[in-house]
Amino acid sequence: MIPVPVYWNKRTQNCSPYVPGEQPKDRAFIKLNTNENPYPPSPKVIAAIQEAACDTLRLYPDPLCTEFREAAAKQYGVKAEQVFPGNGSDEVLAFVFGAFFESAAAGESAPLLFPDITYSFYPVYARLWDIPCKTIPLAADFSINAEDYLVPSGGVIFPNPNAPTGTALSLSQIRMILDWQKKADRVVVIDEAYAAFGADSVVPLLGDYPNLLTVHTLSKSASLAGLRTGFAIGSAGLIEGLFRIRDSFNSYTMDRLALAGARAAVEDAAYYDKVNKKIAATRERVSAELLALGFEVIPSRANFVFIRRRGISGSDLFARLRRHGILVRHFNSGRTADYLRVSIGTNQDMDAFLDVCKKTGEQK
Ligand code: PMP
Repeated sequence: MIPVPVYWNKRTQNCSPYVPGEQPKDRAFIKLNTNENPYPPSPKVIAAIQEAACDTLRLYPDPLCTEFREAAAKQYGVKAEQVFPGNGSDEVLAFVFGAFFESAAAGESAPLLFPDITYSFYPVYARLWDIPCKTIPLAADFSINAEDYLVPSGGVIFPNPNAPTGTALSLSQIRMILDWQKKADRVVVIDEAYAAFGADSVVPLLGDYPNLLTVHTLSKSASLAGLRTGFAIGSAGLIEGLFRIRDSFNSYTMDRLALAGARAAVEDAAYYDKVNKKIAATRERVSAELLALGFEVIPSRANFVFIRRRGISGSDLFARLRRHGILVRHFNSGRTADYLRVSIGTNQDMDAFLDVCKKTGEQK
């Protein structure tokens, strides 16, 4: 037998795929490892998906996703032509890297900039598309220093709040970066996967910055990780660029069920505001209790906390929690090796988590 990699082209050989968090099947864990929302989607979303599960499934969906884009545009106070729909924001991000950041092969030498500790999919896309990139170290307190991004670049991308740290930049700090990169005609992408849990959205800045693109997901704030829906908002020119790349892959990235559910979700902001305020309140309570137990907690504006307990390694704490049926995320390298990212679950989930943390404190 010829080993399979013989048939792989250079791109396949050289890519370094993203590893998603564990989705266990064999045991009932309290799942605090992939930043899913612990509360159910809006009943209106379920009803819309059920209604869409009918004989029209034999027809292709609307490739322009018109109704969903109009609903999202209304919700965010923009035009439908400023909304780009996708099969989860990971897919939207893959298209963003392909559409706006230049490849080394095309002669680009200025690197795309992102933090050294951030969403670990960014370097994966950069490598796949052969985009030169440079990581900028976070400050000692894990915050992003906006001034570090006022330099020549191939573009800038980071989440606000950042992941896995949870820290957020203010709009005035982001404006500084946008102003600088706008003068150089570079695109700045703000990934707002977690903004609904407590950071200011950059959407109100869009009128001032044709180089600003903001990426959203319904996976976390709309309890729809299983539906795979996300979207970007930006100037009509950027959105057209994304459609050019998408339509060079697959014109039907959002299926009829996803379109129906996503539309109902963006139309039911009142339901989700309530849910997400509850999660933010739980985050504040859990952060305070962890601090009282002697844990270090990075101040978070997201639906997770990034924590460390001095005297116990990240691996040991991860293993201890797992033994007690609690799954969290551990990025086991460099400066993050002793930290765990803990998604905010229900109050009951978090009490179970805190119980294990309390015992950890007693043993140390
Ligand atoms: N951006 C960030 C910062 C994330 O943490 C995630 C979730 N892993 C995503 C984007 C992707 O979310 P989804 O593909 O579920 O929309």
